[in-house]
Amino acid sequence: MATAPRIAPQFLFSQSVPAPCFVLDEARLDENAAVLGRVQKRTGVRILLALKAFSAWALFPQLSRVMNGPLWGTCASSVDEARLGREEFGGEVHAFAAAFDETEMRELLSLADHITFNSLAQWRRFAPMIAEHSARTGKPVVCGLRINPEHSEGAVAIYDPCSPGSRLGIRPADFEGQVFEEGITGLHMHTLCEQGADALVRTLAACRQKFAPHLARCRWMNLGGGHHITKADYDRELLCQSLEEWRAAFGLETLYMEPGEAVALEAGWLTATVLDIVGADMPVAILDVSAACHMPDVLEMPYRPNVFCENGRAIVMAGGAGDAAPGAWKCRLAGKSCLAGDVIGEYAFPAPLKTGQRVVFGDMAIYSMVKTTTFNGLRLPSIGAFRDRSFRMLRTFGYEDFKTRLS
Ligand SMILES: *Cc1c(COP(=O)(O)O)cnc(C)c1O
Repeated sequence: MATAPRIAPQFLFSQSVPAPCFVLDEARLDENAAVLGRVQKRTGVRILLALKAFSAWALFPQLSRVMNGPLWGTCASSVDEARLGREEFGGEVHAFAAAFDETEMRELLSLADHITFNSLAQWRRFAPMIAEHSARTGKPVVCGLRINPEHSEGAVAIYDPCSPGSRLGIRPADFEGQVFEEGITGLHMHTLCEQGADALVRTLAACRQKFAPHLARCRWMNLGGGHHITKADYDRELLCQSLEEWRAAFGLETLYMEPGEAVALEAGWLTATVLDIVGADMPVAILDVSAACHMPDVLEMPYRPNVFCENGRAIVMAGGAGDAAPGAWKCRLAGKSCLAGDVIGEYAFPAPLKTGQRVVFGDMAIYSMVKTTTFNGLRLPSIGAFRDRSFRMLRTFGYEDFKTRLS
């Protein structure tokens, strides 16, 4: 694997690629998958794609074990994601949600192999329905509970499931070991976000301290997502050792992980065009894309994406960094919606941008296409893929996509 060329940045500026368009780099996707596949093979951990981060299903066959790909299955945060995983990915389908209702549970039971509940009350509410389903179909659904080890590693509160007041996961004081007699066979923990193996090691230590007697009764455990496994400087050796030790310590039959970001990290771009340049305290380039509609994590997280123009990469002007580029042209990149705060950030470019010029955003496969909206009636960027030096369009959007979301 991983012999195909990645997208050359110049390619994204050629007229053979439209704008605005999410362009998926299949070579990078294969490289990420190969890294995850090696971790899976060495440790026996089963790696699931978190659909919440990346749901570009046209590219699922190359990721799915069903097609001899490297990943074991998918994890879903809703019935619709579970159905997408079942229909388009194959392998095991796992589901977790902060809460389910009865209609959802009925549908989910025909789609999911594993269901993880967020509270004892949710588990006990649906246990009879699950037992009835298993008896009727002869296909038992594996059930687990999400725990909250009350150990924060995250710097960003809205992405920290262990922040004070978090509704996610059962805290040590509220856990009841009796659930293992009621049909629960494993525990689920998701506490990390874009973190290294060192953060996992500290989290596992906290989990052991708070849940050890319960862990000893588990047949399986799911260590959630937020592991930045495919990042260049991620310590995969430490990850593999920790997983092997953890499995041995509690005699677990199976360990699962469900990364989203790591599967499609750096595997997508968003092309855009400068529509106008207006004057404010500094020049503001208005683009045919929007932070609010097409890359909302820029505002939510918040973060500054990498930006490229034909002459090279722009420098993010944070902490005065832009001043380090003498002669650079400084501007603010902004979206075309009416939202005053639809601003991507301030950047220093090698040369002034001009109307009609193209700019390209990096790392736009994750938490982008899954989060787009048609707010303001803005047309969704099309979706395409790049493989073997050629671009193919997967999907374009039009007025109907705006209209059919409303009534
Ligand atoms: C968001 C989420 C994931 C995926 O997280 P990444 O940061 O994309 O790896 C996995 N599991 C659960 C329960 C999640 O909420």
